Amino acid sequence: MYHLKILQLVGIKEYKENHYLQIHVLLDQVETLYWKVDQETADILQAVTDFTKGYYYRLTFQTYMEKSIVTRTQLEESLNLEFTCSREYREQLAVLKQVESLVDMKQLDFISSELESEPEREKKQKVELPKSENPAPARRKRKPSWVLATALTIIFAIIFTYTGHSILTKALAQPEKVASEHELVEKETAPVKEKVEPKPETIILEENITIEEEPAIPFFKLADGTSHGIEEGKVALTFDDGPSQFTDEIIDILKESNAGGTFFLIGSNVNKFPENAAYIHQNGYSIGTHSMNHINFASSGVAAQQEELVQSINLIESIIGEEIKLFRPPFGKMNGTTEQVTNDLGQRIVLWNNDPRDWQSRDSKKIIQHIKSTEVSGSIILLHETEATLDALPEIIAYLQEQDLEIVTLR
Ligand SMILES: [Zn+2]
Repeated sequence: MYHLKILQLVGIKEYKENHYLQIHVLLDQVETLYWKVDQETADILQAVTDFTKGYYYRLTFQTYMEKSIVTRTQLEESLNLEFTCSREYREQLAVLKQVESLVDMKQLDFISSELESEPEREKKQKVELPKSENPAPARRKRKPSWVLATALTIIFAIIFTYTGHSILTKALAQPEKVASEHELVEKETAPVKEKVEPKPETIILEENITIEEEPAIPFFKLADGTSHGIEEGKVALTFDDGPSQFTDEIIDILKESNAGGTFFLIGSNVNKFPENAAYIHQNGYSIGTHSMNHINFASSGVAAQQEELVQSINLIESIIGEEIKLFRPPFGKMNGTTEQVTNDLGQRIVLWNNDPRDWQSRDSKKIIQHIKSTEVSGSIILLHETEATLDALPEIIAYLQEQDLEIVTLR
């Protein structure tokens, strides 16, 4: 299973004539590690960063020719800064991209947990000359003039690489996931997809033998960015805050009526009800993340938002074996960096335009009444995994289908 990861650059250190990037690695947990890099790359990164100003720096896995990108964020402003890096840096970056756990990461010869463990760490290194015979550190003490030249280039780059406006950035903008493993996941999930995607049809094998295929659950593919509603003639039922003890029954009711459904799961509930999360996926229904701990994204910084997303996405993906593409911010609240953060992680934001406030009334009659008295065509209806909603569901589905609406799963 592949994993999303975030490399937050928090400092650049020199220790015993070696150069290190101090990084907060966000995988299943957050840990501070030291990445030994060549002096040239360390100097260039030093020139583009300023750790005294409260900026948040994220090293991306993007490389282009001899360059890579570090993203700088503060409040609602995010900039992609290009910097020239060594081939060694790019190779190490590619290795880090593939690593699947913090334990594996710490085994790498260029990664260490603390600078004090240097002598032990050096033993792991396969190719390194004994220090006394290695003239490189002394020679490298003087900064080569091209470092300054590059720093100047970078200042220009800063001006032209506002997020979303740089051609280079666009060309490189990809979710930071491991490509080879994408393929693997697609292969793994192919049988499930085959069951879900075909249109209802009857396959005629021989003249007198026919097999009725299970009818497909209708779906609607959302555009990138943020969605509030969908196309007229369709309606989406969405269920938040699960999984729960009600999940399986909700799925069974939807399935019975060939109705679609989308489930926005909270990571901490996935830990409590992993089988129910798996049940959603096994039956061909969509899962999105609803964060790890149901925090308010509008009052959270970049790092907290990334942490909530990455941890919940990795958790859900490890259970269902398929990529998570949809995110619903808890309470529907978000700030200026949320779109940037979710976009970086390859997620689409799903809000709603119809809210029966089921979590508040906990009254199935009121929920049904709300739906019957509002415009439902083209709507994304916000529901929660509660008993009242479960009780109301058969009547809601019947009503929507009577209106000739297609009840779709969101993708
Ligand atoms: Zn919620």
